[in-house]
Amino acid sequence: MTVSALFQEAYTGLKSLVIGLGITGKAFCQPGVTVIYPKEEVDNLSTFRGHVELIGKDEDPAVPRCVACGACVKACPSNCLTILCPVPAKEGEEAGPVVMGPAPQKGSKTPGAVIVDFSLCSLCGQCAKACPVDSLQFSDNPYMVRLDRREFQIDLLARLRRQAEQD
Ligand code: SF4
Ligand code: SF4
Repeated sequence: MTVSALFQEAYTGLKSLVIGLGITGKAFCQPGVTVIYPKEEVDNLSTFRGHVELIGKDEDPAVPRCVACGACVKACPSNCLTILCPVPAKEGEEAGPVVMGPAPQKGSKTPGAVIVDFSLCSLCGQCAKACPVDSLQFSDNPYMVRLDRREFQIDLLARLRRQAEQD
């Protein structure tokens, strides 16, 4: 390699270094776009998509609008929703202990259990879109940290009741 080629290479390297440092320095002086959780929390959650949650009735926020039709379960491409209702006793059968089965169940217009497995959810929104009574929405709960994937099974009825108590 000639001396002039060496100088040319050194010049190109130095130029790249100065440009890179300039870009880094500029970014360094800009306000941060992330927060250091748990010391800080974000406050602009209006467009955030957390796990789905139930919406309560206007007259009783602890009771979901859900009519246990099962449309959301059918629409979910990831099979992460479970909605259970009491299975009606067959004609002529004696009424025994309540047995729960997947929604819809004849004569049942309220769910006995609504569970979402958030570890499977892709946040696609198909469930909320399919709901005929607008009973589902995305929550603004960004702090879902768990050590075991089974802990991502969220009881949405219990969550709705807790929220209604807090409001
Ligand atoms: S957001 Fe999509 S993946 Fe998640 S529960 Fe609803 S339909 Fe299923
Ligand atoms: S689609 Fe709506 S009303 Fe039907 S089971 Fe799902 S949440 Fe309930």
